[in-house]
Amino acid sequence: MTSPHRLVWSPGYACDIGPHVFPTSKYAAVRDTLVGEGLVRAGDVLVPKPPSRALLALVHERAYLDDLEAAAPTPRTLRSELPVTPEVIAAFSLCAAGTTLAARHALATGAAAHAGGGLHHAYGGHAEGFCYVNDLAVAAQAMREEGLARRVAIVDLDVHQGNGTASLFRGVPEVFTLSLHQERNYPMPKEQGDLDVGLEDGAGDDAYLEALDAALEAVWAHAPDLVLYQAGADPFHDDQLGGLALSFEGLERRDRRVIDGCVARGIAVAVTLGGGYARRTEDTVRIHATTCRLALEAPAHRRNA
Ligand SMILES: [Zn+2]
Repeated sequence: MTSPHRLVWSPGYACDIGPHVFPTSKYAAVRDTLVGEGLVRAGDVLVPKPPSRALLALVHERAYLDDLEAAAPTPRTLRSELPVTPEVIAAFSLCAAGTTLAARHALATGAAAHAGGGLHHAYGGHAEGFCYVNDLAVAAQAMREEGLARRVAIVDLDVHQGNGTASLFRGVPEVFTLSLHQERNYPMPKEQGDLDVGLEDGAGDDAYLEALDAALEAVWAHAPDLVLYQAGADPFHDDQLGGLALSFEGLERRDRRVIDGCVARGIAVAVTLGGGYARRTEDTVRIHATTCRLALEAPAHRRNA
C-alpha cells in the first residue's frame, strides 16, 4: 500500500567529496529502497528546487551567505570538513529546501520523510562538521514565518550534539531543542540547548531508550505543532564515528518512540536523516530507510487538518 505522506529527495544530494567517511550515495539508496518496496511511487517523490537566498537568510548571516554563494574559502566556510566547492555547497544547501518541503507536507498530512538533511552542526555565521546550511533551523523558521506552525520542537537523536541548532534557537522560546547524544564525542565543547542529554560511551539500547523516554516528556510538554526529527544513524554499534552501541532493533524502537509519540498527540512530524558512518554503507541505508518507512506508514493524523 502506498503512503498517505510524501517522501522528499533529490538526485542533487549526491556529490563528489573525495575519499571521505561520509557516503553521499546513501540518499539515493534510501529513496531506492522505499520506492522499491512500493511504499512510494517514483513519480510521487517530491524533488526540491534550490533554496532562495531569502529562505537561507531566515537563519544564516549575510556575510556567510556571500561566502557560500561565491564558494569562497574564508574562516566561515573553512570550518566545514567538506570541500569548499560550488558543487558541494549546492548539494548540501539543497537539503534546506528539502526539509522545508517535508515540514510543509508533514503539517498537511501529519508526517513526511526527507531522505536528506539533518545538518545540525551549521551555525548562523559559519559551517561546521559536514554541514554548510542548517536545514532543520531553516525549515523551523520558514514554517513559523508562513504561519503554518507556531511552536516547533527539534528532536535531535544523532550521536553528535546538534550544536548549530542549539545555538540558533537560544532565546527563541517557541522552538524547543532536544539533543540526546554521546557526551564524549564531537563537538567539544557542547552548546547549550533547551535539553541536552549526554550519554556514556557504549550506552546500549536499554539505557538509551530509558533516557529518550524521559527526554521526550519535555518535548511533549512543549506542545509543538511540528517536530523536526533528526534521526542520525550514527548511534549504531558499528558506526565509525559513534560510540553508543545501539542495535538495529534499538534504533527502530527509538524511531517508534518519536514518530508514534507524535502521531498519538496529533503533532506533525518530519523526518530528516543526519549522520551515518557504519563500516558497511548498507547498514546506514537500512537504518535510515527504517526511519523513513515508519514515518511514511504513519496514519494521516493532523489535529487541525
Ligand atoms: Zn553525527
